[in-house]
Formats: sequence, structure tokens, C-alpha cells
Amino acid sequence: MTGRLLRMSSLFVRTLRDDPNDAEVPSHRLLVRAGYIRRAAPGVYTWLPLGLRVLRRIEGIVREEMDAIGAHEMLFPALLPKEPYEASGRWTDYGDSLFRIQDRKGADYLLGPTHEEMFTLVVKDLYSSYKDLPLSIYQIQTKYRDEARPRAGVLRGREFVMKDSYSFDVDDAGLEASYQKHRDAYIRIFDRLGFEYVIVKATSGAMGGSASEEFLAKAAVGEDTYVACTTCDYAANVEAVAVRTPAAVPYDDTPAAHAEETPDTPTIDTLVTFLNDTHPREDREWTAADTLKNVLVTLRLPDGTTEPLAIGVPGDRDVDLKRLGGQLEPIEVEPMDEVEMKKHAALVKGYIGPAVLGEDSESGIRYVVDPRVVEGTRWVTGANVQGSHVIDLVAGRDFTPDGTIEAAEVREGDECPSCTDGTLVAARGIEMGHIFQLGRKYADALGLQVLDENGKLVTVTMGSYGIGPSRAVAAIAENTLDEIGLCWPRAVAPADIHIVAAGKDEAILGAAETLAQALVAQGVEVLLDDRVGKVSPGVKFKDAELIGVPTIVTVGRGLAEGTVEVRDRATGGREEIAVDDAAGRLLEIVRS
Ligand code: ATP
Ligand code: MG
Repeated sequence: MTGRLLRMSSLFVRTLRDDPNDAEVPSHRLLVRAGYIRRAAPGVYTWLPLGLRVLRRIEGIVREEMDAIGAHEMLFPALLPKEPYEASGRWTDYGDSLFRIQDRKGADYLLGPTHEEMFTLVVKDLYSSYKDLPLSIYQIQTKYRDEARPRAGVLRGREFVMKDSYSFDVDDAGLEASYQKHRDAYIRIFDRLGFEYVIVKATSGAMGGSASEEFLAKAAVGEDTYVACTTCDYAANVEAVAVRTPAAVPYDDTPAAHAEETPDTPTIDTLVTFLNDTHPREDREWTAADTLKNVLVTLRLPDGTTEPLAIGVPGDRDVDLKRLGGQLEPIEVEPMDEVEMKKHAALVKGYIGPAVLGEDSESGIRYVVDPRVVEGTRWVTGANVQGSHVIDLVAGRDFTPDGTIEAAEVREGDECPSCTDGTLVAARGIEMGHIFQLGRKYADALGLQVLDENGKLVTVTMGSYGIGPSRAVAAIAENTLDEIGLCWPRAVAPADIHIVAAGKDEAILGAAETLAQALVAQGVEVLLDDRVGKVSPGVKFKDAELIGVPTIVTVGRGLAEGTVEVRDRATGGREEIAVDDAAGRLLEIVRS
């Protein structure tokens, strides 16, 4: 098997000295500057030859590992009919994120954002017995989502590549096994890709279903925040953290609730100071965690209508809108604006308390609270009068919320929800993959049933498993780059070896060419900088650093003494080796 030789002299690439002005994160900046991608429209990118090679290598690894667990590759169209998505509810649930189009006859179509419906229907079409199952099928295909905030080049695109696979089983044990197989395959895929990642508990969002986990690339620029326990193996996306509900507390001795004037207390800190000065607590000092902060948001439903929602959280924490959004998907959440606020006469900004909240209250606004607000807990909160708070308001005695919700921010140092002595540490990541035990949602909606051993019709249970190869290009770049350029892990680099012919004379060009040919003959992929003319060795070195192939070989001045220089792009480590031994040594490096 011979490798490929890419010549910089003819390759379709132009490296740029300046950063693109829309680049928010380093990987985006470098992928554009190094000639991997070009923007075609907001959130829509063209893959240039170098970028396409990285994308294809990632897809190749994903494909090999999916095939290894017995999944079969197929390919659906991206252009899809509306009906299956109407049957599942996602034609509306996807809201503004769905690209909807019409054909010349006015029939509705969509550009597939993910394909649960189509896979369910094709299995329904062709299979009818438990003997046909279990089954796992997948595709690597272009997806379309009109993301509200396309970001960072191919990291969050409106058109992107996804590997989506689906498992079909007759029973829960089967689904569990299929899920585990996929999970193991994902671990092998991410290990092979060669960057740092974590596996965390996740919410299932618009997908429906129960158990799900995400694979996150560790990256400061990531949009996801996850927490991990210092003691046990608990790790979760903050969206999926379920705070441990404390036990109810007795409140027989708690004084009756009483409203008090609290002038000049615009913030929780000033309120707490005021309380400690003028209404000292009998047992200890007041803290921000004794106050109940009520935050109003507007929910935007997939059909475009809006609804107000009030959320009560301990005053030492903010409401985390992303975490809240994770619980409510496909509903979108935004802070309530002044105009909307004014529509509710009962709401006194800054002094909103439970007395005017709740479905049965004056405002009629649904009121949900943090799980820590259990029966018997005692709060200081707004008295619904300018400049006044109510003290000793007891949950379950003086007010009863409509429900609870996980919306309060999760913080470093919080207690672990899973073990008794650990605390949580937080970090950011980029979602690379997501695996779900979907259960029967889609099979139910679309009528996918098979005959079981007893000849009885049973509804099939499904799993769905996604990876974003195009996002992976950016995430891996982000995770591995340094201050001089991209720095690819060997498994996904656009070439194995980058040979720089550092000089114009025949001896140098000839030796570089010979070395390149020797490597290619051994199956190595070589990027050869054979440019002549105005391109100085300095420019070639800079380009090699920017492009980020893991091994850079310089054929230049050393040639007079019979040596070439081999440099490790990631570590910067250099060695001089005899030109005659170069092919052998490089082969060792590539294969190690
Ligand atoms: P996110 O929360 O980042 O929007 P998601 O939960 O919508 O992701 P899934 O629907 O689970 O993602 O899609 C499976 C995989 O597809 C993700 O893990 C990610 O790798 C990739 N992916 C999703 N949306 C995009 C996008 N807009 N651009 C690039 N890749 C994406
Ligand atoms: Mg998304």
C-alpha cells in the first residue's frame, strides 16, 4: 500500500498571516489561517483539501469502530418529508432550529437535523419479528440545524457532519446491552482520536427517553460546563445535576411570618447586612442562603407562544438559564423583559414574593422552586411591597409552590449528589458525542412493533448515538493547538510527515523528493514543501508550524554533512539524523 504525496507547490492551500475578523476562538482562527476551512455563509463552511483530510480521517476511525460492533452503515437523504416528523411531534418541537422548505407543488419538506424518525420507519418497513433483532444501523451524513448562535467555525455550524446510529431491541435488557456496546465503541473512538475527554451524565432534552451520557472534549472555550466529584466517579453536565433533596425540617417553633420595612436593600448582600443589624436571628447570623430569590423568565414554546414562569432559588445562587433550558427543552427560556413585567400588576420588581406567585395566585404565574426549598425551610423573601421583605416565611406552612426545578447554578465546592463525603469541581467542555437510551418514544409514535417469541406484538425499544466529526475537527484542534499553530494528534493529522525543502538548490530539492518518495512507498502520507521561487525557508517553517503535521523534517543546510533535522511539532524536540537513515527512522516514528 503506497501513501499519498501532497505537494505544497500544487496543493490548493493559501495560508494567511492575519486572523479572520469573525474568529472567536483559537481553533477557528487557526483552521482558517492554515487553509483548512472557508466560510460560505454564517455557520456554513467549505472544506479545503487539508481540512477535508482531517475530517475524513476522523470519519474513518468512527466508521471502523462502528463496524467493529456490528453496526451497518447506510445513508439517508438530507431532504426529508414532513410527515414522519409530524408524527413524532418534532416538526413543531424543533421550533426555529428546523430548516423547513417547500417543493414547487407547495409540499413541506425539511433538512434533517437528526434521523430517529427515518431509521424507525425503515426498520418498520422491512422487519417484523424479534428474530430480526437486535439491530444497529448508522450513517455519516450532513445535518442541518438553524442554530440560534452558530459559533466558532465548524464547532457549531448550521450545516455539519454527524455520525448517527440507532439500536433496535425487543426488551430493556437488549437496549441496555446495545447501549453498552456503543459506549465501549465511543471510548475506543475517542481514545484513538487522541485528545482529552470526559464522560458525563446528560439530560435527554428534545430527544426524549431516559439514560444518556455525553462525551465532552476538555476545553476552556466549551459551551458546556460539567462537574466531577473529588471522591467518587460521579461526573455530570451541570444541566443534568440533580441536587440531593434535603429532608423536611420541623417548623413548630418557627415564629409566624412577618413583613418588615427593609429600606435601602437593593441587593441580597445589603439585605443580609440589614437583617443582621436590625433583626438578628436567634440561632446564628443570617446569610444569603436564607433568602429566597424569585426570578421571572419568559418561556418560548415551539409553536411560538410565550408563557411566564417564576423560579425561586436560595439567594446565594443565581438561576442558570442554560441549565434551566436543559430541563425545559424544546421550550426556550429568556429573562423576562420590562414590558412583560409591567403586564403583571402584582409583581413589584425587587420585592417579588411567593404570595403573588403560583397558578392559583393573583398573578397566575406558575411558580417552581429549587429542590432545597423543602417543607419547613424558613425564608426571607419579597413582601410584594416596595421596600419590604417578609421574614420567617415557611415553605409548606406559608406558601406551596407548584413544583420544583433544577435551575439554580451548580458551583464548585457543592456537595456531590452521589456520595456522602465528596464535593464538586467544575470545568468546561465541548460536546463531541451523546448516547441515549431512547426507549419507545419513536417506536410508539411511528408504530414500530415486532412479534415476540409468543407471537405477541411488542413495541421495539431504541437507542440513539451521535458523534459530530466536523465539530471534532475544531474540538481536537482546540484541545491540542499551541501559540504557533495547529498541532494534530497523529491519528487525525492531514499528513504523517511534513518535509520542508529548505533551499532552492537541486541537491536539497532532490534529497527532499527522494525521502518523500521512499516514505510514500512505505504507505506514509507526506506533505512535501517543494515550493521554489519567492518562498523562503522561513516562510516554509512558519507554514509547517501553522499547519500542524506532527513530524516536521527539514532538508537543508545539514545536507552538506549528510543530515536532516526531525522535529516533533508537539514537544518541539529535535534530532539530527543521517539522511540515509531518515526513511527508516521516520517510519518508526509514524508507526510508534
Ligand atoms: P449541542 O448541545 O452542542 O447543541 P446537541 O445536544 O444538539 O449538541 P445532538 O443532537 O446530541 O447534539 O447531536 C449529536 C452530536 O452532533 C453532538 O454530540 C455534536 O458532536 C454534533 N453536533 C450537534 N450540533 C452540532 C452543530 N451545530 N455543529 C456541529 N456539530 C454538532
Ligand atoms: Mg444542539
